[in-house]
This record gives sequence, C-alpha cells and structure tokens, in this order.
Amino acid sequence: PLVLGIESSCDETGVGIVRGATLLTNAVSSSMDEHVRFGGVIPEIASRAHLDAMVPTLQQALKDASVTLDEVDAIAVTSGPGLSGALMVGVAAAKALAVATGKPLFAVNHLVAHVGVGLLDAGELPENLGALLVSGGHTEILRVRNLAADVELLGSTIDDAAGEAYDKVARILGLGYPGGPVIDRMASDGDPKAIRFPRGLTQPKYLGTPEAPGPHRYDWSFSGLKTAVARYVEDCEARGVTVPAADVAASFQEAVVDVITAKAVLACTEHGITSLLLGGGVASNSRLRQLTRERCEAAGITLTIPPSSLCTDNGAMVAALAARIIMDGGRPSGIGFGTDSSQPVSTVHL
Ligand code: ATP
Ligand code: MG
Ligand code: FE
Repeated sequence: PLVLGIESSCDETGVGIVRGATLLTNAVSSSMDEHVRFGGVIPEIASRAHLDAMVPTLQQALKDASVTLDEVDAIAVTSGPGLSGALMVGVAAAKALAVATGKPLFAVNHLVAHVGVGLLDAGELPENLGALLVSGGHTEILRVRNLAADVELLGSTIDDAAGEAYDKVARILGLGYPGGPVIDRMASDGDPKAIRFPRGLTQPKYLGTPEAPGPHRYDWSFSGLKTAVARYVEDCEARGVTVPAADVAASFQEAVVDVITAKAVLACTEHGITSLLLGGGVASNSRLRQLTRERCEAAGITLTIPPSSLCTDNGAMVAALAARIIMDGGRPSGIGFGTDSSQPVSTVHL
C-alpha cells in the first residue's frame, strides 16, 4: 500500500511516504532552533511550529515523491507517546486529510514506529527481535514478537532519558543545547576512564539473578549520574581547579553507554533475543554505536542500526509501521480517537 505518515510528537514535523517497505520520501522540518535559547523543548512553541510547518511539509513530501493525495491508500499518524499539544496538531491534520479524501486512517505508536523504520529497504524484520530505543524522551528495551500486534516493554529508564542526561550534563558544562552531539564530539578528546561516574541500578539488590530477577534488572537510571557530574564540577570550582571538560564528557558518556549496552544485551540474552535494532535520536552517538556493536558481537546478537536520518523522529517510520499493520489485515482507527501522551508500546495502533 501507498501510505502517507505524519509525525509531530516532539519538535520534528515529519511527513513521509512509503510504498510497502519502500521509502519514497521523508520530509522533516524541525523547530529545534527555536528551543535552543530555552535549553529544552518548549511544548507551546513546538505546537505552534507544527502548525506553521505541517502543510508545507506535506506539500514537500507529495512533491518529492511525485504522488498525489488521490493515489495514497492510507493516512497514518502518531497518536502518542509525546507532547499532547504537539501530537494534536498532527492528529488534527491527519483526521482532516482522511475525512477530505475518504482514505482510511491509522493512529500508531511513536516508539513502535522507531522500530518499524527497520522495515524500510530490508522488507522484513528479523525473528526474535529486540529494540533498544534511546532518545531525548525515552530509553527502553523492547521485545518485538510481532511488530503489528505484540510488542513488550522489558526495561526502561526510571527517571531521565539518556538524551535528557546528555542535555543536562551539557548545560552543567556550559556547552549549550542540544547536548548530545556536542558531548559526543568533546568526548573524543577526553579520557573515558579519567573519572569513574556511577552506573545506575547495577547494585545486586536491583539486578538480582537470572532465576530471581531484582526489581530493576533491565531498567536504567540516569539522574544520579547527572548529579554526580554536577558535584564533580562544583568540587573543581570550589577548589579553583579548571574543569577537565573533555574528560568529564568522555567519562560521562562512557557511564551512559556502558550501562545502556550492558543491560540491553543482558535483557536480550535472557529472553532468547538474537537480533537487536538500535533506534532513537541518541543512536547517532558514535560511542553508543561502537559499544553496542562490540557487545552484540560478543553475545552473538545480530545488530541493525538504521541510518541516522531514520533514527530521529520522522514521518516515514509512521508510514512504514502503518503499511505493515495494513498488510497484516489491521483495521483503521476510525475518526474518534484522541492523543495519548503516554501511549504504552503494547498499544501498537488505536
Ligand atoms: P522522543 O523520540 O523520545 O519522543 P526526541 O524527539 O527528543 O524524543 P530524538 O529527536 O529522537 O528524541 O532525539 C533527540 C535527542 O538525541 C536529544 O536529546 C539529543 O541531545 C540526542 N542526540 C542527538 N545526537 C546525539 C549524539 N551524537 N550523542 C548523544 N545524543 C545525541
Ligand atoms: Mg527531536
Ligand atoms: Fe522519537
């Protein structure tokens, strides 16, 4: 099917078009620049930016793909999770399109769409698939038995997302926003072993054993790490010592990436998962890619990392997931659905 997908859960307005598992176009407009001076995404500004960008992005996508709305078989949209006001703009646009054209409408889960993007070009996802999603809003390990119908959350962060931790640490170091790319770059000049920052939820009482798993065996926590970095920096300042920013960046990054990859591989191994997809905006991180690759290889897990442009929020992933749902005989969502800012991964579509 020819599917047009709309994404507006955070700061990217995305309209993508796919034919089955073939990507035709992926138009994205980001409001990131407007949030920089606030040091984080401001929901009201994001919503307004979606409203400005939605129709131009839609027109751009149709033009790029040389497709008319008439030819489209279905409209798909992210219903959640994400920022409510931001989601509403995409959902309202998708409903209007569906009503005006009479096409079926599919409301899909944003996080599952981050996995569904792996269908593009490959056509099929591997069997026994796990998905490690690392982004500004989420850090989760999923088991994907059936992309269209059976996705299970195995573990997640209990406080900050990894991307959020990057942003907060960048602010502590005075590096600006967004923090991910700048810390990634800075870390390459630093020593990852210079400072031993804490790995959250790795004590035995949280981990337990394979037979008797603890309460957070596959979960992460990054707020203690952020506090440890802040304390380290304050301590340097109190002693009148120059903050070794590159070493702090490298050591912080090593702590994040070490615990993310260790727990993801643990969850995979203990659930018989033999393939892993790495997705979300932080999947662009060079150290995360490298260590995930090394540890998956050591554990006999086949790793897939989609291209960066498909890992950040976009409309093609929404279209790709909906195309699969349609091919599996899934029903359209009807017109009465709302947004769900905390839509669970078990709800793949509404
Ligand atoms: P979500 O997808 O969870 O709704 P989001 O839209 O904020 O949230 P993405 O757009 O997927 O998430 O990712 C943005 C995050 O990725 C930001 O926090 C940014 O700092 C981080 N990021 C981008 N590039 C890198 C990098 N090279 N290293 C680490 N983090 C990065
Ligand atoms: Mg974003
Ligand atoms: Fe996302």
